[in-house]
Amino acid sequence: MKTDEKFIAKQKKLLLAEKAKLEKKNIELEKYPDYGRGDDDSAREYEDFETNLSIEAQLKMLLKKVNSALKSIEKGTYGQCSVCKKEIESGRLKLIPYADICVSCKKNGKK
Ligand SMILES: [Zn+2]
Repeated sequence: MKTDEKFIAKQKKLLLAEKAKLEKKNIELEKYPDYGRGDDDSAREYEDFETNLSIEAQLKMLLKKVNSALKSIEKGTYGQCSVCKKEIESGRLKLIPYADICVSCKKNGKK
C-alpha cells in the first residue's frame, strides 16, 4: 500500500509544530534559574536546575525522535516500524507523529 501523501503532509506539519515547541522549551530550560542570593534560594535553584536537567534530557530525546521522523519523510520511509519494517498503524501515528515502532512491537517490548 502506498502511503497517503495527504496524510504525510499533515504529519509533517504536526512534526514541525512539535519541533518548534520542543526547541522553545529547550531554550527556556537552558537558562539557569535565579531566585535570589539567600542560601534557601540557592538550594531551590539547584533543585530546579536538577529537575530541569532531566526534563531537558527528555526534551532532547523527543527532539531526536521528531527529527528522525522528519528525515524519514524525506527518505520516504515514514510510518515504517523500525523493528519489524511493517507499516505503523495510522491511528498510532496520529497520536504520536514521531512514533518509530508499531503497536505490536511496542507491546512486545522490542524497543
Ligand atoms: Zn513493528
